[in-house]
Amino acid sequence: MSIHYDLHTHSTASDGTLTPTELVQLAREQGVDVLALTDHDSTDGLEEAASAAQQVGIGFVPGIELSVSWKRRTIHIVGLNIDPSYEPLQQGIKKLQEFRDWRAEEMGRRLAKKGIEGAYEGAKKLCKGKILSRTHFAHYIASYKSMDSLRDVFKHYLVNGKPGYVSGEWAELEEGLSWITDAGGQAVIAHPARYGLTATKRRELITDFKECGGVGLEVVSGSHSRDDMYSSAFHAKQHGLLASVGSDYHGPSNPWLKLGKLEALPDGCQAIWSTWPDEQ
Ligand code: AMP
Ligand code: MN
Ligand code: MN
Ligand code: MN
Repeated sequence: MSIHYDLHTHSTASDGTLTPTELVQLAREQGVDVLALTDHDSTDGLEEAASAAQQVGIGFVPGIELSVSWKRRTIHIVGLNIDPSYEPLQQGIKKLQEFRDWRAEEMGRRLAKKGIEGAYEGAKKLCKGKILSRTHFAHYIASYKSMDSLRDVFKHYLVNGKPGYVSGEWAELEEGLSWITDAGGQAVIAHPARYGLTATKRRELITDFKECGGVGLEVVSGSHSRDDMYSSAFHAKQHGLLASVGSDYHGPSNPWLKLGKLEALPDGCQAIWSTWPDEQ
């Protein structure tokens, strides 16, 4: 029988809407055997998720999804099997959280100029942990403007060039990767097809990523099309990277993403878990 992995998920410790315990329980119901919690720039949910996973009897991988800057773009790096007590990782995360707090106030000011009042306070109210995300703003704007689709909210207010967008100042790729690898983790480029990179830029990113100790590519992602999956599988093989799988689940309010319902890795990929002890 094959083991079902979901190695990219979010909880209320960042921009997910389920608590770590609720997420783990749902994962169990959905047939996930091994779950990673990978909140944006936070490890706050890991302890609760680990004990919930033990209770319901599924495997648990402590993870994170770090926001990093590379050539003035924002890239997301999933770290798997990190030791959250590693001090430089926590110090790095703290700086990212401070940037997020400043950015949120700035977003609030910019949105107010465009007639959306109270966005900072509204987003803060929706945020249950320490990570203020554009997703919290999106939920606030959706109800303020009576818009049904979060995607439309992003498109009109929160992406580059729109009123609420403030460019990210994250850690540089090299520094972010060192936090993950020095914390004992494996670094994986999250949803690689989502950055709109040319073939040249993609090769440059993968080369730099490998030079900094990165080992994996998220081949199967809830936010990838089938074509994205096959091309990511090809790139993983071409560059000798391990392949990871993750839904990027944020909770039931994103109906297009399902927890644990993932395609099998395409043939020829080396699964990241094949490098883990006790797993094949
Ligand atoms: P942040 O890290 O605060 O800049 O927020 C990024 C998060 O916003 C991502 O992790 C997604 O959860 C969410 N997001 C980004 N773009 C979209 C979109 N087009 N539709 C829905 N959610 C999005
Ligand atoms: Mn998110
Ligand atoms: Mn992401
Ligand atoms: Mn994610």
